[in-house]
Amino acid sequence: MKEAEIVEVIKGAFGSLVAPGAYELADDAAMIPPVIGHRARVVTTDVVVEGVDFDLGLYPAMYAGYRALAQNISDLSAMGAFPVGFVWSLAIPPPWLERERIAELARGAAVLAKLRMAPLFGGDLSATSGPLVVSITAFGDVEGVPIRRAGARPGDFLWLSGPVGGAAAGLRVLRERQRAGPSPEPFEAWLRSLPDALASAVRAHVMPLPGDPAVLASASAAMDVSDGLAIDANRLAAASRVRLELEDLDSALAPAATHEDALHGGEDYALLFTAPPSARVDGLRVGRVVEGEGVWQRGARVEAAGHDHFARLLHLAH
Ligand SMILES: [Mg+2]
Repeated sequence: MKEAEIVEVIKGAFGSLVAPGAYELADDAAMIPPVIGHRARVVTTDVVVEGVDFDLGLYPAMYAGYRALAQNISDLSAMGAFPVGFVWSLAIPPPWLERERIAELARGAAVLAKLRMAPLFGGDLSATSGPLVVSITAFGDVEGVPIRRAGARPGDFLWLSGPVGGAAAGLRVLRERQRAGPSPEPFEAWLRSLPDALASAVRAHVMPLPGDPAVLASASAAMDVSDGLAIDANRLAAASRVRLELEDLDSALAPAATHEDALHGGEDYALLFTAPPSARVDGLRVGRVVEGEGVWQRGARVEAAGHDHFARLLHLAH
């Protein structure tokens, strides 16, 4: 089963009890309808599992904590929401019951919490004999209504809030280091010793900076690029029932990143959005919206291939 099929099964079981603000479970976050005033609250949740979503053979625990929160903040940003705060739950295995490891994990999340003013409201702890599990639920506020994946109109331009492909390029550098065998050199010292482009790619992987929701002020549709531009742009095109024409991506490539990294790498957490051509936008223009369906580049269809947790697990099992 793929992620999308599992979501359908869950949706079927809840039927009419899926909240209207959940947008059919198809957007980056859900809206809790406003009680008073013009602000809506947005909620999102993400779970990360050691060995599936993060690999401590590649980087210190601090970055696992940072990345776990980054995914959530990015989903809030994708709806145009500014963080209000978050709660988290940890299922901790015995090797992690060590003061310094837990402190490192928490420090990583705290770095981003401070950067984006997303305070911790609480959480829960349990023990497990399996891998470490970190589940985060984050809340955000949006002026008016959230920006959704549906809303792009023919004639709009397509934008990215920042470069893409860096996280995949960084992962390649991290894997090379791992293949070279255990090193006594501390991670930070190694990172500082790298050429600028490679260090920047590694940082894009271990400390991705989620897109700023402020860039979506005049956006007609938005989402975050978490699974790769190819699959995510296809999701936006499908939700908006339009065709996205990608221009040359050269200007949107992160240092050390290839086109392949940008299209199929994922975990960049930049915002992908559309806006009317008259709008003043702070971003990288990567294409335009036309009538039709799918994502196209230079006359060829860009297939929706990218990251799927369960496809990867099946692959590992074989
Ligand atoms: Mg998302």
